[in-house]
Amino acid sequence: MTSFKMKYPITPRYLTGPSKRRPSLPLDCCRFMVAHDTGNPGSTAAANVSYYERSRNDMSSSAHVFVDDKEIIECIPFLTGPAEKAYHVIYDVKTDNARYGADANDAAGGAELCYGGKIDNQEAYKRYVWVMAYSCYRYGLNPATDITGHYILDPARRTDPQNALRLLGKTFTDFVADVVKEYSECLEEEYTMRPEDANDIIKTFLSPAWFNFDAQMKQALKDGRYDNAKQCLQYRDHQKFLANELRKASGQPVE
Ligand SMILES: [Zn+2]
Repeated sequence: MTSFKMKYPITPRYLTGPSKRRPSLPLDCCRFMVAHDTGNPGSTAAANVSYYERSRNDMSSSAHVFVDDKEIIECIPFLTGPAEKAYHVIYDVKTDNARYGADANDAAGGAELCYGGKIDNQEAYKRYVWVMAYSCYRYGLNPATDITGHYILDPARRTDPQNALRLLGKTFTDFVADVVKEYSECLEEEYTMRPEDANDIIKTFLSPAWFNFDAQMKQALKDGRYDNAKQCLQYRDHQKFLANELRKASGQPVE
């Protein structure tokens, strides 16, 4: 079993809905992720979400999550609740349909990277890369192929998230590679047994049994009872096999 390392908290701060920004419609499915930046240097995640809430009935544009150097705030449910639609890529473009067979607003998560001004770009980027990796894990996406950028989908009108990436000296390809790396680093094996319990069973039962069969085997050899010795050897080695199964189940190296 695997789980994903929850390095950072994700704070739900949902926009009031139904409203223009949060239509309160379920996302059809999550087929891919779209990377955005706010295009507004210095504006924080909290400031963006407050602005969205104040202007929730003014326009239809939105995103699921905003990430800065201190916070990851989800304003439309995606990672912290049943996924809903956010309007983050204009329906007119056909690039999303060609590439993923669906409109981004119906089948993608949209995450905004905050950058510039007083924001520590490196810290914001670390969190952003993690959010993308976690989104891929959460929805069974391949981070190498299922992340696109707003500028890729809508090149005539958009440049994001290139504005933020440029400040970090990163290309979009670098960014995807960073997410792929983060994704594999955050995958954790989940063990079904605690190491101390496994070691307790080994020490109390399996190890004495091993020595017991070992002694019986040696005695049988001495007595010339070779069939018996062979059987004891099998029993002895089986204790070692069982001990290693317990070690594996508790995430310890085999011996
Ligand atoms: Zn965008």
